[in-house]
Amino acid sequence: MKFHLEGSFRLSAEAGDAVKDLEEFFGGAAEILKKGAADGKGAEITSWKLGNTDISVVIDSDRYVRAHDAVLRLRRPLADLLGKKYRVGVRGIEISKYEIEVASERSIDHKIPHVKEMKHEGGVLTLSLEVDESDLKNQVPDRIVSLLDEKLAAEDYGGKAEHWELLWESEPRVPKFERDPTEELVNRGWIKHGASRGQWIYGPEGTHLFRVLERIVLEEIIEPLGYREMIFPKLVTWDVWKKSGHALGVYPEIYYVCPPKTRDPEFWEEVMDYYKVTREVPVELVKEKIDNPIGGMCYAQCPPSWVFFQGRTLPNEDLPIRIFDRSGTSHRYESGGIHGIERVDEFHRIEIVWMGSQDQVKEEAEKLKECYTRIFEEILELRWRMAWVTPWFMAQEGKSGLSEMTGAGTVDYEAILPYNGDWIEFQNLSINGDKYPRGFNVKAQSGEQLWSGCSGVGLERWTSAFLGQKGLDPENWPEAFRERFGEMPKGIRFL
Ligand code: ATP
Ligand code: ZN
Ligand code: MG
Repeated sequence: MKFHLEGSFRLSAEAGDAVKDLEEFFGGAAEILKKGAADGKGAEITSWKLGNTDISVVIDSDRYVRAHDAVLRLRRPLADLLGKKYRVGVRGIEISKYEIEVASERSIDHKIPHVKEMKHEGGVLTLSLEVDESDLKNQVPDRIVSLLDEKLAAEDYGGKAEHWELLWESEPRVPKFERDPTEELVNRGWIKHGASRGQWIYGPEGTHLFRVLERIVLEEIIEPLGYREMIFPKLVTWDVWKKSGHALGVYPEIYYVCPPKTRDPEFWEEVMDYYKVTREVPVELVKEKIDNPIGGMCYAQCPPSWVFFQGRTLPNEDLPIRIFDRSGTSHRYESGGIHGIERVDEFHRIEIVWMGSQDQVKEEAEKLKECYTRIFEEILELRWRMAWVTPWFMAQEGKSGLSEMTGAGTVDYEAILPYNGDWIEFQNLSINGDKYPRGFNVKAQSGEQLWSGCSGVGLERWTSAFLGQKGLDPENWPEAFRERFGEMPKGIRFL
């Protein structure tokens, strides 16, 4: 990667008298420009010239001391030199040209902010930046470099599977059922497709099944481990996703939320009248009358809960904090991937969240794992496994491999679906390191960096795993589950 910067220092007055000192300064600038870089690396002043009331410079560099850092590094010592002896001030830095060159097999075919031109020639991608001094200080060029790194890493990576490492696998169990559980649920009338894509309506039988699974979570995890129930918002604003990191990549799967531009009935009269006459909703007209999206519907469950803790300090004796939410649906646009109740656009999930010191968070994760193992082995008797996978926050930030924070990461819980032989992820458990406490500025009284973890129990996925392996006939269910299920509620009948 190469950086080429042309710019100038704006001066408050002529500095002709300082020319000798300036020659010495720029001649000896190497020390400033190579500091912190390995031998032979860093930035270089290719040329400089004293003008009327400015000093123009051309700086070339590698990625170790980037040209924009170099020009910022020069400002203060230059101001010291000219100010003390010659009473000339450095007013600012103008950037007339800033180019970044990087070896790349391909170009980028969309706009990047602050990039005014992109050229791809002979395996080299050249970006011309449009930046001023405050952009340099705000690390805009560095973020463009990170973006390039990410894209080039993806190029090398070539769509290779994400990290996946088996941690544990249950004994094989002979399945009691080998058909698609959703088809069977529909045939028996326990569930029915909703009006929206990837959406189901659960009849009394399907709902009871969900509630029984939920009760197992309450009795086997929530109560013994002491989790407290909270109600998290289900409409999530950009601000929350900026802090949680989801704003980096969640866009293709969001259900967006737009408020009306106004609630003035007159503003909407045209829409109402159109409908009254045609019995069609004029969606194009509606589109004109709604505002920009303010965010989206709940995607991951825990991010909006952090607003409760934002900017606060937690007392030592209250840590670890253990909370959970089961107050509403999550929504994801799964596109062509939707299938049965296994992959839906609207789903139900219990989200378990804990926070504390690094050790507390890890310890809590182990306790949860033990509870889960007991449920899947002794109550549901599943054929299941655990895998260590690329955590969501690394996948989204375009990095691959394991976390830099030791111990942070995600365990996926997977169960086999005998009808197609695939393993589905039916829940996960993540240690998110300092990601959320940092993003939402939450502190521990001790001063130690707060960590957090979360685990999402997907009820559709638990149901798919359980019914997929055991079927819908209670006589094939494990005794411990049948007991908890009790009597089957009467379903809705139709003539
Ligand atoms: P997948 O790889 O199957 O798409 P994911 O990695 O996107 O899953 P997470 O973001 O880890 O899933 O979400 C946590 C949990 O939420 C999952 O383990 C699952 O139980 C549930 N979940 C996520 N997406 C869906 C969906 N589309 N339908 C039903 N449940 C889902
Ligand atoms: Zn979470
Ligand atoms: Mg997914």
